[in-house]
Amino acid sequence: MMTNKDRILIVDDEADIRDLFRDVAEECGYEAAEAGNRDQFCAALTDFQPTLVLLDLTMPDGDGVELLREMADRTSQAGVILASGRDKRVLSTSERLGRSLGLTMHPPLQKPIDVVALENALTTCRSVVAEQQVRDAHPARPPLEPVTVVELADAIENGQLEPFFQPKVDLLSGMDFPIIGAEALVRWNHPQRGLVPPDAFIPLAEENGLIGALTQCVLTRTIAHLRQWLDAGIAVPVSVNLSPNQLTDLSLPDHIADLLADAGVSPSLLIIEITEQAAMADIGLATDILTRLRLKGIAVSLDDFGAGYSSLVEIYRLPLSEMKFDRSLIVDIDRDEDARTVVKALVPLARALDLTVCAEGIETAKSAAFLQAIGCHRAQGYHFSKPVPADAFTALLMDQQLGGKTVSAAMS
Ligand code: C2E
Ligand code: MG
Ligand code: MG
Repeated sequence: MMTNKDRILIVDDEADIRDLFRDVAEECGYEAAEAGNRDQFCAALTDFQPTLVLLDLTMPDGDGVELLREMADRTSQAGVILASGRDKRVLSTSERLGRSLGLTMHPPLQKPIDVVALENALTTCRSVVAEQQVRDAHPARPPLEPVTVVELADAIENGQLEPFFQPKVDLLSGMDFPIIGAEALVRWNHPQRGLVPPDAFIPLAEENGLIGALTQCVLTRTIAHLRQWLDAGIAVPVSVNLSPNQLTDLSLPDHIADLLADAGVSPSLLIIEITEQAAMADIGLATDILTRLRLKGIAVSLDDFGAGYSSLVEIYRLPLSEMKFDRSLIVDIDRDEDARTVVKALVPLARALDLTVCAEGIETAKSAAFLQAIGCHRAQGYHFSKPVPADAFTALLMDQQLGGKTVSAAMS
């Protein structure tokens, strides 16, 4: 028997706790079912089809992580609230694990659970479920066929690739987050598909020998924009991303320096972003190339720090000017005290090494305020601006100039 009500499955081996949670859930408008062991849990997933699961992590006959895997195997769409009296790190790690399994994880609750905290959590989840139902009723258009190498080669040749620019703001100027730079992020302006994001074609370019031509296109167009902004009296440094296999091309520093010289743009206005994975593929070659970029006055930024490949050692072994915290780390600081502790320790370390610290993926005022308070220099994220076409970025720069703020000098 299925109703339109939100359905919560309460999973706990203690009957008293299940009763208490059931009362609270029903008061919050849920239809509730209970499971006291793994078999009951599996049966209820099929028969009751919960929209939300309140899951005790420690059960005598199967821990909560196994139950999360069971939900993932069945591609369950139910949201999950984990509850446990264990160390909070076990709780937050399990939450992350659930997310990596593709489950919708809500903030976990530490046992003993306060009834008010439970009511708040259940009420918040109800509105999330309602939004999900609206989305399910209006499914997104089916994905288009993947792009082909031939199409991509044509697109590079015919100028269909264009850099968008995402502003980088200064967190520490004391002013209202002025723009002090941008990251160039490539988009494919496809005649039929519309704007195609880089994740849909960068791997294809890398696997098929097109990444050199793609980067050349992004660099040339970015440097042309740098020239236009200089002509309008604005010196704004811009970052360009390199792919891993490009850090083996010894001619790269001269090539980039030539492009800048031809346009009459100072090397101090260009920042090259690399990932650590790229630098590690052949550390000797990478160090050679990056050092020569620095000697030519081009800054080098370590992108995606904290995304999984980073080791602290590289931040002093590579000739870096900037370190960028990955969005996955920044997302965690809003909800995880341990993540805040790690970032809080890393910022002074990077600063002591004379690195500029930039945080990427800032989506909330809360994370911006936290990063500002711990001395992070720069930030980039939807909270400030999404990546925008060059014209729109020019307009942002012009507005800022009119408002009396200036784009600060480039770093080197
Ligand atoms: P990335 O270099 O780490 O760039 C940051 C990505 O995070 C961008 O995605 C940006 O739009 C996104 N982002 C920034 N702030 C937020 C936020 O607050 N929330 C969310 N959800 N996302 C945010 P995008 O443009 O899709 O680029 C993805 C990746 O593609 C880039 O990651 C970079 O690795 C690669 N890429 C982009 N352009 C180029 C390029 O010209 N050459 C190469 N080799 N790779 C590029
Ligand atoms: Mg980047
Ligand atoms: Mg990044």
